[in-house]
Amino acid sequence: MSTHLFETIIVGPIHSRRLGTSLGINLLPRRGKICSFDCIYCECGWNKEHKTDKQIPTEKDIREQLTKRAQELVKEGVKVDSITFSGNGEPTLHPEFPQIIDTVIKIRNEYLPTAKISVLTNSSMLWKEGVREALMKIDNPILKIDSTIEHFVRCINRPNERYSLSETIESLKKVNGNFILQTMFLKGQAEDPLTGETVDLDCTDKKHVAGWIELVRTLKPRQIMMYTLDRDTPLQGLKKVTVEEMKEIAQPLLKEGFKITVNGTPFPKERE
Ligand code: SF4
Repeated sequence: MSTHLFETIIVGPIHSRRLGTSLGINLLPRRGKICSFDCIYCECGWNKEHKTDKQIPTEKDIREQLTKRAQELVKEGVKVDSITFSGNGEPTLHPEFPQIIDTVIKIRNEYLPTAKISVLTNSSMLWKEGVREALMKIDNPILKIDSTIEHFVRCINRPNERYSLSETIESLKKVNGNFILQTMFLKGQAEDPLTGETVDLDCTDKKHVAGWIELVRTLKPRQIMMYTLDRDTPLQGLKKVTVEEMKEIAQPLLKEGFKITVNGTPFPKERE
């Protein structure tokens, strides 16, 4: 297994399957990981492997480094499609997250006015009004829910004790569909952290799919990003769900007019 960490505050631009040319912002430590989840598929690895560095950048660090990088990119004539908050963990855990969003909007407007601002979040901090409001100011709030089944969430996302799936869904209702839902589809076996039992996980399972479709109908996100494993995962033995399987799951939603991408490609217009 070789999971990886972002080693700088500003990353790239890199090419993203889902967002195009993406300039990353890592609000988490450079040699550590801080997250309210500990997903079995996390590209950064397990939380416990990355406890050494707890230092997070300040709003001033972000302002200075993003301004400098944006000025360089303007000079080089590089077009940025998205300024993307992702990095080594959960960006909305940063205590200055709302202020940092305002700062990044200002810098974007000044130097990279055509770039969208995107935040990839596990939705665990949506109960905080300040976080919700900040996410509503940006172009692409990409909010994760991987399952509506409690034990699937426990086994796949391994959230901390503060997390409540029902509270998160209630918070998601408050954003009135003005968000992009991201959901991971995988198969495999994982330990249930509550019972210690090994659980079979299959995101194509009828009950899982029915719950997820019902959630989509309730929340009405403006876009849905379905995706599967792409890189090495901390838990070994996980398997991808195929593009065909995801398309089949998406069919009823497609007929209802939802805008869907599968592994970053619009469905149904994707080229095989
Ligand atoms: S929410 Fe994202 S950063 Fe956190 S553990 Fe899961 S995949 Fe990793």
